[in-house]
Amino acid sequence: MTMIQDPNLLAETLDAEFAVLSPLERLQTLRDKVKGRIVFTTSLGLEDQMLTHLIFANNIKIDVVTLDTGRLFPETYDVWRETEEKYGKRIHAKYPQAEALENLIEEQGIDGFYYAKEFRLNCCGVRKIEPLGRALEGASAWVTGLRGDQSQNRLGMAFASYETQKKLIKVNPLLDLARERIAHFNDDHGVPINALHAKGFLSIGCAPCTRALQPGEPERAGRWWWEDDTKRECGLHVPDRTTVAEGAGI
Ligand code: SF4
Repeated sequence: MTMIQDPNLLAETLDAEFAVLSPLERLQTLRDKVKGRIVFTTSLGLEDQMLTHLIFANNIKIDVVTLDTGRLFPETYDVWRETEEKYGKRIHAKYPQAEALENLIEEQGIDGFYYAKEFRLNCCGVRKIEPLGRALEGASAWVTGLRGDQSQNRLGMAFASYETQKKLIKVNPLLDLARERIAHFNDDHGVPINALHAKGFLSIGCAPCTRALQPGEPERAGRWWWEDDTKRECGLHVPDRTTVAEGAGI
């Protein structure tokens, strides 16, 4: 097989091919066509657990990595442990830098994120964005569990696109799947899932920044609910932004 060298062209090719493939075939095609390290970052939510299952059960050479912010729910650690036990494989972890975290807490307090958006962005920067950078260091491709219909921000995403600043191909193999289909898949395959999903938590992040949804609320309404804008993000998935201030919350 001839490998495509130009990453932009490769991303375009993957994007077109993925339209007619299953999620498993998308991961296998990605692995076949992209040289070097591929990283899947998981938050251990419903979508990410489906991808972890596909990667682990089919022995696809993709590194599964989570960002442990230090503020996760106990239920998230439970599903992390259960997943490693079920598949006999390691979910690698990146942690915030100790000195940066100490400085953050010194400057804005342990729960400063409730008091100013700037403080929230600082916290996401130290606990998520900087560790994400280390998780993706040297990777050729980055797999995520994003779905296109999760929020307004995510409409119009591609299956695969080249991120020029990160210098890698970002891949969303579940882009066109509905949440219900993913839930059925996980049920059918005995995939461990976070116990909080059954308690009204659809999108699960850090414990102090995630609440259960009320009936009829949009899927991501339970994240940073005290902020009044409608496009809240932590900045992990804002394309080609290098700083939290630029990248988050837009
Ligand atoms: Fe900090 Fe909340 Fe962002 Fe987690 S989600 S990193 S606790 S501000």
